[in-house]
Amino acid sequence: MSIPTVIGFHYTLKDKNGTTIDSSEGKDPLYVMLGKGHIVKGLDDVLPDMDKGDKKTIIVSEQDGYGPVNDDLRLKVGRNQFPSDANLTEGMQFQTSQEPGAPVFTVMKVDGDDIYIDGNHPLAGVELHFDVEVVEKRPADPEELAHGHAHGPGGHHH
Ligand SMILES: [Zn+2]
Repeated sequence: MSIPTVIGFHYTLKDKNGTTIDSSEGKDPLYVMLGKGHIVKGLDDVLPDMDKGDKKTIIVSEQDGYGPVNDDLRLKVGRNQFPSDANLTEGMQFQTSQEPGAPVFTVMKVDGDDIYIDGNHPLAGVELHFDVEVVEKRPADPEELAHGHAHGPGGHHH
């Protein structure tokens, strides 16, 4: 078994209209262990071929990103399905169960007792345009291997 590669990179994520969605600019670069599904497939497929100092625009289809929008996850539910003390506001997010990986729903609209919720990832159905600059590339160290994820320059979980 080969040792997984850890890559550190800066990124700016835009949609296909050029609107910036997210960026690491002014922050620490993102460190990931490749090939573990920690990032969207479209990035995981391309980053292994990049070296330190490389810059590239990577266009990720919705299929290789956060998937297409699933209309079955857009639901109208009654207010009575929430705890009576829930303060339901648009944009509020909640999980349907305590289990890790349980879908996160966002409250899209509150219309009296009708609550419209959406369990799609906010970037579902979006073609992702990543401007990427690789700042570090190295084999995972023993601590990272033990944890199964990458650590940035500051070490574990910062
Ligand atoms: Zn760790």
